[in-house]
Amino acid sequence: MKNIVLFGPPGAGKGTQADVLKDKYNLVHISTGDVFRFNIKNETELGVLAKSYIDNGNLVPDEVTINMLKAEVEKNADANGFIFDGFPRTESQAAELDSFLAEKNETINGMIALEVEEDVLVGRLLERGKVSGRADDQDESKIRNRFNEYNTKTAIVKDYYDQQNKYYGINGVGSIEDITVLISNVIDSL
Ligand code: AMP
Repeated sequence: MKNIVLFGPPGAGKGTQADVLKDKYNLVHISTGDVFRFNIKNETELGVLAKSYIDNGNLVPDEVTINMLKAEVEKNADANGFIFDGFPRTESQAAELDSFLAEKNETINGMIALEVEEDVLVGRLLERGKVSGRADDQDESKIRNRFNEYNTKTAIVKDYYDQQNKYYGINGVGSIEDITVLISNVIDSL
């Protein structure tokens, strides 16, 4: 199995790249943000619980998110590997993911991070908000809060993988195709 964490701040292009890479490498793409939005749309119990956190740009509590992620992995028992997009977002999520995979004799092969300046990202998210309809993409103060969550809780997850020699940083500014090539070079080496 090849298990990749696609990492980066909001708007870095994780979802766009995961869409291409999942077909190229025959991996299952799990975006925790997409799973939350699906649950919100369908007004499930999980969706009702997660909605106010997401709409305001706050992280959903770890326990809820981790349980949801585990269920998504279990649904795909015959997968060739996973692209985790938007997860883990805290150190405790990273540790839980490691022990969950270890129980299956699996591991994360690498974290690939898309590195993009915050000011570029705010512009990208506001543009995306015009078409995505996402409440958390349309209001600059909510976007800034998402970056605050990223900077205070998520950015350190980089160190977690760095300590395991699994961190690979990629310049996330450029054409979609060029960035896919950079990421593919890393995946091919894992
Ligand atoms: P995304 O689509 O990855 O930008 O995620 C949208 C929102 O979903 C985030 O701002 C959080 O509110 C929530 N979310 C997604 N993934 C996680 C996670 N791993 N931990 C906590 N909250 C998450």
